[in-house]
Amino acid sequence: MVVEIKKKIGIPRSLLYYKYFPLWKTFFEELGLEVVVSDKSNSKIVEIGGRYAIDEICIPLKLYYGHLVNLLEKDIDYIFVPRYISTTFGTYMCPKFLGLPDLIRGTMDNLPPIIEMDVDLRKKPKYASAIQTGRQLHRSLRQIRKAYEKAIKTYHYFRNLMVKGLTFQQAMNIINKNIENFEPKPRKHNGVKIAVIGHGYNIHDPFINMNLFKKLRSMKVQVVTLENLPLEIFKKQTIITNTLKNYWGNEEEILSAVNYLFQDKTLDGLIFICSFCCGPDSLIDELITRDAKKLNIPYISLVLDEHSGQAGVITRIEAFVDMIIRKKRGQKITKEVLIQTPPSQFQG
Ligand code: SF4
Repeated sequence: MVVEIKKKIGIPRSLLYYKYFPLWKTFFEELGLEVVVSDKSNSKIVEIGGRYAIDEICIPLKLYYGHLVNLLEKDIDYIFVPRYISTTFGTYMCPKFLGLPDLIRGTMDNLPPIIEMDVDLRKKPKYASAIQTGRQLHRSLRQIRKAYEKAIKTYHYFRNLMVKGLTFQQAMNIINKNIENFEPKPRKHNGVKIAVIGHGYNIHDPFINMNLFKKLRSMKVQVVTLENLPLEIFKKQTIITNTLKNYWGNEEEILSAVNYLFQDKTLDGLIFICSFCCGPDSLIDELITRDAKKLNIPYISLVLDEHSGQAGVITRIEAFVDMIIRKKRGQKITKEVLIQTPPSQFQG
């Protein structure tokens, strides 16, 4: 019997991995490839990535380079580097995504063949992007269609798991174990609800965010991320003002999430995680700060890079959560005093 050896395609565990990996993985596996992912982010990966990237670039991109180098040690036949241009009507991704395959080709040698996927919803449907990718692997239209349909189905299941409250990693575990119709159980918490918002690659990579979620959960806080919110809220375009329009795709999602969360009366605070040197993040940080101030919602932004110290970040988070707990206690006591005080005491 001849055992067919599958070709291996490497996917860096960075950038849009934290959004589309279940879709990509299913697609390539259905096309007969073995999917190999780089190791979890760590200081060695960021240090190696920094040798290829220019100094002023954001940490997610430095990590992307480091993950590519990490994959080279895994004996892969191809490397997948997608080009996401536009994923919602009227918006563009950040320029780093628009030119990602060109950037990588122009700055790194000795890479195996790069398999691309150009996603530009202004010009072509998603299925056309799948055909472009499948053709580079010499697959037939029939094979590509079948792989694409299964990938989309897996992706929708994965997204719905996150809407039900699972984290990225928990939802991935369900997908990897092929568990169908999974229903998560609610977690116990201390009544403090905090949303942690930002790009998926900052939110779901514990190395970048310095295990922020572990810390919040150890404090028994109920944590909500953008992916846990109803999918319908991302279908409408956000309005900033009549003259100021947002045209960044990722930030569009963040602003939709923030607008929704700011109307949620059960929300106690918001943490925005942004990358140092990120233009789009710094713009919306200013917008969120203004709205949070107007609505009197506790808000902090954590601007992170590879030099951020874990102790400093954790101290800020502890202080933020303590302040919210004290605020909530204060509100409760004031309410109880008002309810218990007999009306005669107010009559002077
Ligand atoms: S959106 Fe910001 S953090 Fe993301 S790749 Fe672009 S510059 Fe980097």
